[in-house]
Amino acid sequence: MTAVDGLRVSADRESCVTSSLCVYRLPQVFDQDAEGRVLVLDERPPDGLRRELRRARRGCPTRSIRVDGLGPDADEDGGAP
Ligand code: SF4
Repeated sequence: MTAVDGLRVSADRESCVTSSLCVYRLPQVFDQDAEGRVLVLDERPPDGLRRELRRARRGCPTRSIRVDGLGPDADEDGGAP
């Protein structure tokens, strides 16, 4: 196995409470099933979505979104809301 290159998105469907916030923010990456639980459409999104992925991860009320290769949220708060 080699190290993960780039971004890799996953989501914990068990803890998802179907708030839809991630889908509103990044519909090209997230969707919901018939019960409203999160689905990851694009597990390897382009690097240009880093900012929005941080916001989606931070905005999830249950911390159900994981993005490997993104780093912590703390360094992303300098931009416009
Ligand atoms: S923001 Fe979190 S709780 Fe809401 S749908 Fe997405 S994964 Fe589920």
